[in-house]
Amino acid sequence: MQRKINLILLGAPGAGKGTQAEIISEKFSIPAISTGAIIRDAIASGSEMGNRVKSYTEKGELVPDSVVIDIIKERLAKPDCENGFILDGFPRTVPQAEALADLGVEITDVISIEVADEDIMARMAGRRVCKKCGATFHTMFKPSPNGETCVCGEPLTIRKDDDPEVVKSRLAIYHEQTEPLKDFYESRGLLKIVHGQEKLEDTTALTAAALEA
Ligand code: AMP
Repeated sequence: MQRKINLILLGAPGAGKGTQAEIISEKFSIPAISTGAIIRDAIASGSEMGNRVKSYTEKGELVPDSVVIDIIKERLAKPDCENGFILDGFPRTVPQAEALADLGVEITDVISIEVADEDIMARMAGRRVCKKCGATFHTMFKPSPNGETCVCGEPLTIRKDDDPEVVKSRLAIYHEQTEPLKDFYESRGLLKIVHGQEKLEDTTALTAAALEA
């Protein structure tokens, strides 16, 4: 029987956390939970929470800890998390990591996917998303078979927060507020580093090896 995996993926925006989360999710049949995706859905649906956080997300700023902690608390209580889960984009601050521990959530693995800032800047320029079905693509690394159109037929779009100026400020926020989590989890003996590779499948192999180590 496979061991239980309650995994946190750390890494700068654009490091490839979301893609690896999807691959691990399929391999182990556990949900990949992206607070960013939950927030984008809430904004698109015009919910009260969505309206409250819209301006932060569009500027590339972090939404308040209390909001994301509530989101994660609600999501982790769902039955599909019982056999494990992957957190992509949470925690992003030390208070969020402390709140997760206070909720009594056991974390088995933390993997930080590391990519140099200049490579992130180049990668983000190619990201595309489908507003209708939520699929994600990359013009170079994971192109849609239909070019600038999604597999579902909807034209692909560029996220507002993938604008280069916004990406720069998101990277600064990452270094300032999220990177300290590496020490947080290193001191708990949980941190593993994966160096993001140019080829997606090479990063996947390194991530799989980190989970098996
Ligand atoms: P992501 O898709 O993970 O890059 O998240 C997109 C945006 O959602 C971020 O730029 C933040 O505005 C917001 N967000 C997602 N997760 C968090 C989090 N854990 N803490 C604060 N803000 C978050």
